[in-house]
Amino acid sequence: MAEIQMINEMESVVKSIVENHLRDKQNLCTCDRCKMDMIALTLNALMPRYVVTTLGGAVTNVDLQGIQAGADIMMALMRSIEIVKRKPRH
Ligand SMILES: [Zn+2]
Repeated sequence: MAEIQMINEMESVVKSIVENHLRDKQNLCTCDRCKMDMIALTLNALMPRYVVTTLGGAVTNVDLQGIQAGADIMMALMRSIEIVKRKPRH
């Protein structure tokens, strides 16, 4: 029997958005601590999207759930960046 796992698809979506976003921001700290803080804060502000998959199975492609979800993620991310910028924990 294949191993079953439950994952929050938002996690990988937010991670890749943060990576992309920080790439062209020179005035932001991109150390692991700050990056992780931004990802955690952003994920906490968003509804999780849990899916059950078999381990090693094809990862379902999260179509960015339309423009609204994309906008929600960006808004949450902007807020997280502000919080981390003001009080970096590195
Ligand atoms: Zn930092």
